[in-house]
Order: sequence, then C-alpha cells, then structure tokens
Amino acid sequence: MDVLVIGAGVGGLAVARSLLAAGHRVRIFERAESMRTGGAGLSIFSNGAAVLHDLGVSLDGAGGRFDRIDAMTSDGRLRLRSDMTHAEARYGFANKSVSRRVVLERLAERLPGDLIRFGTGCRSVTQDADRVTAVFDDGSTATGDLLVGADGHHSVVRRELWGDVPIRTAAFGTWQALSRIDIDLARTHVHLMITGREGACGLIPAGDGNLQWWFDVRWKPGDPRPAAPLAELRRRFGHWASPVPEVLAQASESDLDFFGHHWQKVRREWGKGRVTLVGDAAHLMPPTLGQGANQTFEDAWVLGRELAKGGDVAQRLRAYERARYKHVSLVSSLARRSPANWRIPPVIGRLFSETSQSGMLARFSNRLTAAAP
Ligand SMILES: Cc1cc2nc3c(=O)[nH]c(=O)nc-3n(C[C@H](O)[C@H](O)[C@H](O)COP(=O)(O)OP(=O)(O)OC[C@H]3O[C@@H](n4cnc5c(N)ncnc54)[C@H](O)[C@@H]3O)c2cc1C
Repeated sequence: MDVLVIGAGVGGLAVARSLLAAGHRVRIFERAESMRTGGAGLSIFSNGAAVLHDLGVSLDGAGGRFDRIDAMTSDGRLRLRSDMTHAEARYGFANKSVSRRVVLERLAERLPGDLIRFGTGCRSVTQDADRVTAVFDDGSTATGDLLVGADGHHSVVRRELWGDVPIRTAAFGTWQALSRIDIDLARTHVHLMITGREGACGLIPAGDGNLQWWFDVRWKPGDPRPAAPLAELRRRFGHWASPVPEVLAQASESDLDFFGHHWQKVRREWGKGRVTLVGDAAHLMPPTLGQGANQTFEDAWVLGRELAKGGDVAQRLRAYERARYKHVSLVSSLARRSPANWRIPPVIGRLFSETSQSGMLARFSNRLTAAAP
C-alpha cells in the first residue's frame, strides 16, 4: 500500500518503521525545515522500549536507566517506593530516560534518505472510496491508499476530520531540562518524584552524569513568563529537602524550557475512511505518567499489525483504533491531574510492603499497555 504520513515526530517515524518493515511504500511530510529535536528528555518505559525493539530501534548505550521510583514529600519523607524492575522482567527492557534528540535519531537510523519531505505542511485532506489526497501549504499534493495524521497537538488532519475539537488546559505546566548535574542521584538508577505545596519536581538519571529534571507549577494560558525563570524556581523550590537545592544551584537558565499542558478527550474512533491518527493528534495528554510517546510507539506497532491482516483498509483502521482506545483512554484520564496533586500519604508506604506496592503497580500498569511481552 502507498501510505502518506503527516508529521515526522516520534509518531510519524515509528509508523514509518512499522509499515516499511511490512513492505508498504511510505512517504512522510513534515512542516518544519528539519527534525524538531528540542524538548529535553523522554522517559521510555519498558512497554515503549519493547515496541521500539520490535521496530528495529535499540536504546543500547543511550540515556540512563531507572529501576525504582521513590515518591517523596518536599521535606524528604518517603511516600511510596516502586520497584520498576517488574516491568523490565515482563518486557525484557529497562525503563530509561533518554534525550528526545537521541530517540529521534535512533528512530530515523537506516530509514531511506528521501523518506521525509521537510518544509511541507499539510493544509487539507480529501478522500474518496479508493484514494486519499493531502494538499500542502505550497499547493503541491500527494495521493495514497491511506493517510496517517502524526501531526501532534494542533493536528490539521484531526481538524479536517472533525473540525476544531476543544483542547483543554491542564492547569499546570513544566519547566524542564536535561543537563550535567553533579549529585549522587545522577549516578544511581533511582527516579525521584517529589511533591509539595509549591508543585512537583522530578529527577531522573539520564546517563553520563546527566540528569533529567523538571518542576511542575500551576499555569494557565496567558500567564506571563517570569523574567528570570531559574531565580523563580529557586525562590519557590529552593527550601525543599536535598537534593533539590543542589540541582537548582547547578542549573543553568539556558537549559530550561517551559511547556504548558493540555489534553483532549480520547475519541472512540480516531479516523474516517482511509484516514487515521497516531500519537498526540489522537490522545494529547499531560506528561504526568510519561506515557505520551510510549503510547505513540504502541499506536504505530498495533497499526502495523492490523494492516498486516489485509482486507478492507477502513475496517483495519477502525480495528486499530478500537484496540488502542481501551488502553489510551485510561492512560489519558489518569494523566490529566498534576503530579503535585498525587498526595499519597507516607503512611501508605508503611502499611504496604515494598513487594506488595510493586505487585499492585505491576498489575495496574499492565492495564495501561497493549504491548505483549
Ligand atoms: C514537557 C513534556 C515532557 C514529556 N515527557 C514525556 C516522557 O517522559 N515520556 C513520554 O512517553 N512522553 C512524554 N511527553 C509526551 C511526548 O512528547 C508526546 O506524546 C510525543 O512527542 C507525541 O509524538 P507525536 O509524533 O504524536 O507528536 P510530535 O512529537 O508533536 O510531532 C508532530 C510532528 O508533526 C509536525 N507537524 C505538525 N503539523 C503539521 C502539518 N500540518 N504538516 C506537516 N507536519 C506537521 C510537527 O512539526 C512535528 O514534527 C512529554 C511531553 C512534554 C510536553
């Protein structure tokens, strides 16, 4: 089949890998002039890593692994300790924090050089019973057997299907960076998740002495950006227990990026006829669970498997959407709340042993993923 993919983010590249491997012809159309590699780190959980492996993408030597998540109070008490090695045992791949640039580079490795047409924003999509056509900003067109909208947050493909569907504000945003921070945690395999009245902070070892670090704060669109964001973070979080002050002391403002978060209700059907969606275009969610990209990899993988069954294209696309809906809608609804509101009382950590906490987490996280071990 001749497949048109709109967008060359993690979703578009994963779809290309999945469908090229099955022998389809794939063309990607990307609005930006080159790959958009900004955005610090991505937590690639075992489910995402397993799918990437199936798509021929290795994360060997990339980023840092985390085997445990410790949820802490801002004054340094343990709320909950989760052993994440259960996920590694199930899927055979570690949980990792990897820079987005490296994830994109690994996804693009060994793909045909002429696969992506950069500087080609999709403006509209039309289809009839046999073909689908994308029209681009420069007036050019491309026609294929099916079209996958992997065009993210402000998806034009989604708009073409249902008009302007409301995008909701999640009431919080993230200051984040991935940089060299010389603290003991950066040399461990422990992901710290700290919450308090002022917001939330995540610290994840990202390999080679690097740390992925972020601070969640209340936010709404139109809020003025602080003139000196790092000074503002130090003012707000600098009194938290170690190692937060040490991270803020070594941080550099030039590493910081801000993202305000949004979400959309996940539809049961993500497409019509010969058109479907993957990734944020279908299930935009805040990064609370670190699953946006991981679920996107699963989209690409399930889409490839459905199309491999052959037969009517539209029926296969709807089957793909049904298979993904039950997992993604659950992940999305859980991800809408700011981590700062996940106030697990420290007593829970004392009532349940680490083994039973990890068992509960394992059973629960199995419901979030379609990836079979
Ligand atoms: C602060 C933050 C932290 C995150 N952390 C994690 C994490 O730890 N783990 C995780 O799994 N997920 C995380 N996510 C979510 C993750 O980044 C997204 O879910 C993921 O990038 C979605 O991929 P995508 O390919 O669907 O969209 P995108 O990555 O947004 O890519 C869309 C692409 O389409 C292109 N495009 C847009 N419109 C058009 C058009 N009209 N024509 C052609 N091209 C177009 C864009 O230029 C872009 O290249 C995080 C998100 C944020 C904001």
